[in-house]
Amino acid sequence: MNLIVLGPPGAGKGTQAKIIEDALGLVQLSTGDMLRAAARAGTEIGLQAKEIMDRGDLVSDDIVIAIVADRIRQPDCKNGFILDGFPRTLQQAAALDQLLTEQNKSLSAVIELKVEDAALIERISGRFTCSDCGEGYHDSFKKPRIDGQCDKCGGTEFTRRPDDNAETVRNRLMNYYRDTSPLLGYYFCQNKLKSVDGMAAIDDVAKEIKGVLSSLRG
Ligand code: ADP
Ligand code: ADP
Ligand code: ZN
Repeated sequence: MNLIVLGPPGAGKGTQAKIIEDALGLVQLSTGDMLRAAARAGTEIGLQAKEIMDRGDLVSDDIVIAIVADRIRQPDCKNGFILDGFPRTLQQAAALDQLLTEQNKSLSAVIELKVEDAALIERISGRFTCSDCGEGYHDSFKKPRIDGQCDKCGGTEFTRRPDDNAETVRNRLMNYYRDTSPLLGYYFCQNKLKSVDGMAAIDDVAKEIKGVLSSLRG
C-alpha cells in the first residue's frame, strides 16, 4: 500500500504517519525530516534548504522531487510507503505520478487531515520532539508520560523546530493554501482522496484512518 498524508502544517501528518508505519509496516517518508537531516549533515543542498525552511517557504520542486525519487527506489519501500509532507505542489504531484508509473507502482489513497486554522497554530506552538528517536510531543495534547523523559526511548533531550514560531507559521499556512491545497482537487479527481476529521484526539484520528485503510483492502 502506498499512501500520502496531506494537510496543513501542524495537522498531525507526522503523528499519524508514524502510527500507520508501526501498524502496517509501511515506511514513513517525510521530506521535512529528510531536508532537516541534510541541513544537519551540512550538505550544500541541506544548507540552502535550511534558509528557505527557516522562513517557512517551500524548497524548490527540483530538489524535493530528486530527494523523493532517490528514496522511493530504495528496497525498503518495496512493501509500501507513506509520504508525509510530499507532494506540496501540483508539479510535485505530477512528478510523483510519473515516478510511480515508471516503477509500476500506484497510489492507494491520499488521506486528508482536516483541521481548523486556529488549532494548527496551537498545535505548532506546543510541538516538540525527542532529540534521540524523533518521537513527537505536545505541551498540552501529548505530554511524555514521565515529565522530561521520552516514552519511546527514555531520552531526556528534546528539540523545538526554529520554524515553529507564530510568525513563520502564518507564512507556512499561506503557502499551504496557495500551493498545496489545489492537490485536494487533483486527488479528488483521481478518486484517491479520503478526508478524515483531524480535529479529533490523536487515537481517534488513527482509528478513523485505519477504518479507511481496511475498507481499501476490502
Ligand atoms: P504535521 O506533521 O502535520 O506538521 P505533527 O504530527 O507534528 O503535524 O503534529 C503537530 C503537533 O500537534 C504535535 O505537537 C503533535 O503532538 C500534536 N498533535 C498531532 N495530532 C493531534 C491531535 N489529533 N490532537 C491534538 N494534538 C495533535
Ligand atoms: P510541517 O510539519 O509544517 O508540515 P514539514 O516538516 O513537512 O513541516 O516541512 C518543513 C519545511 O520543509 C517546509 O516548511 C518546507 O520549507 C520544507 N519542505 C518539506 N517538504 C517539502 C516539499 N514537499 N516541498 C517543498 N518544501 C518542503
Ligand atoms: Zn525518544
